[in-house]
Amino acid sequence: MNPRVSGRRPLPGGGAALRDRLAPRQRREAQAVAIVGGGLAGITAYATLRHGGIEPEEIMVFGTDADPAAAWRERARAIRQRYMRSESDGHVAATSFPGLAVRSALSSRSPAPLARSVCNRYHPTVDEFLAHVADVRERSGWDESFVRARVERVGSMTDGFELEFVAQSHKLPASLESEPLLQGELEFVAQSHKLRRGVFRHVLIAPGHPPLNMPPELADDPRAVHAYRPHEYADEVEVLGAGMAAATEWLNALAAGARVISVRRREPERRPLNLPRALFTRRGLAAFHRTARDERVGLLRCYSAPSYPPGREWDEPLRSVRFSVAAELNGAAQIICATGFERGFRRDPLLRRLVDEHALESADDWIVLAPDSTVPALTDARRTLVLAGVPAQWAFPAADTIAGAKYAARGFLRRVVA
Ligand SMILES: Cc1cc2nc3c(=O)[nH]c(=O)nc-3n(C[C@H](O)[C@H](O)[C@H](O)COP(=O)(O)OP(=O)(O)OC[C@H]3O[C@@H](n4cnc5c(N)ncnc54)[C@H](O)[C@@H]3O)c2cc1C
Repeated sequence: MNPRVSGRRPLPGGGAALRDRLAPRQRREAQAVAIVGGGLAGITAYATLRHGGIEPEEIMVFGTDADPAAAWRERARAIRQRYMRSESDGHVAATSFPGLAVRSALSSRSPAPLARSVCNRYHPTVDEFLAHVADVRERSGWDESFVRARVERVGSMTDGFELEFVAQSHKLPASLESEPLLQGELEFVAQSHKLRRGVFRHVLIAPGHPPLNMPPELADDPRAVHAYRPHEYADEVEVLGAGMAAATEWLNALAAGARVISVRRREPERRPLNLPRALFTRRGLAAFHRTARDERVGLLRCYSAPSYPPGREWDEPLRSVRFSVAAELNGAAQIICATGFERGFRRDPLLRRLVDEHALESADDWIVLAPDSTVPALTDARRTLVLAGVPAQWAFPAADTIAGAKYAARGFLRRVVA
């Protein structure tokens, strides 16, 4: 174990370092693993690699915030989310067991979370989830691998990928300054505009969502705020959208005493998870992977329809006389746009450039991926390119969930240690 990290608590099941299992000639290449995007999908991949025996000095994480929950926390806080939509297995650790229900049962010394989990009725609190993310961050060695930098370009090389990035902090981790080769054939080319380059053999890209989606006609309307931006509630609130964020906002605004108008064109679906449960199973996924291109595009469009969970806790508050539904906006003092994010890989500059420069196959809004989330044209025996998070929906329709992050992470690990 690297002496710099000897004080860290070990992750269960961590094996021998990847470096130690390889012939000397292979070592320099195999030490090069990069994760682009330091959010929840990024830390899930990191924890999975660490569990698979890859050491912190063998991984570089490029991200904009050292806290992997930073982007998520801001959005969840804006809509005052208190419970996760996901269940016990919605956690960022490498193995499915123990899930958050077990952790909660142990800390509360009550079997109730386990009983609820058995019938799919356990949802961790947001606080429990965030404490768990902080724990995995600390135990995994994340901060040793993290570099505050935005990756601008992923270029293809015979044996890997050249990442061009702009460092956002002056100080790079000591390991990079003193032992650059330990991070693969890492060659910092400091230029006047701080563009640097590093070469990595295996790369996972998890850039999160494109920008928030604001209806163009409301972009300059002072009454309008996106649900994922901090806000209070006026006396009369129109909420655009009909998914989980909208439903949460209906209840928030009602609880704050407002009159609430849900503005929507169609009735939302009601389901516990954001996609049908079958799509989280091996069999459901196999059927999805058998679909032809156009059919798959149609399914992915369908799956993006708004939904929120069934249950009394959602229905009862909506019986209030202060709640109503309308098809159009009608001049309320405040308009909350629960309209999610812009859609499609073209809205992300890094992915757009990746596709354009390498002529990657795409279908409508999606980059075409192999079932294991790899980019087929840029993955072979010598190198791996995996997408994770929302851009990986072609391989796993619920890619934008913690379960989806785990799916991509496990596929990535299999390639890295192959
Ligand atoms: C309010 C809300 C509640 C949710 N609740 C649940 C839930 O209960 N259960 C569940 O399973 N899922 C839930 N999700 C869905 C999902 O878990 C989140 O969207 C999750 O944050 C996705 O993780 P990510 O890493 O893909 O994206 P993010 O967490 O957004 O992280 C992406 C990171 O990458 C950085 N980045 C982007 N481009 C670059 C670049 N070029 N170079 C370097 N860094 C870059 C970004 O700045 C960001 O820090 C929820 C989503 C939202 C918005």
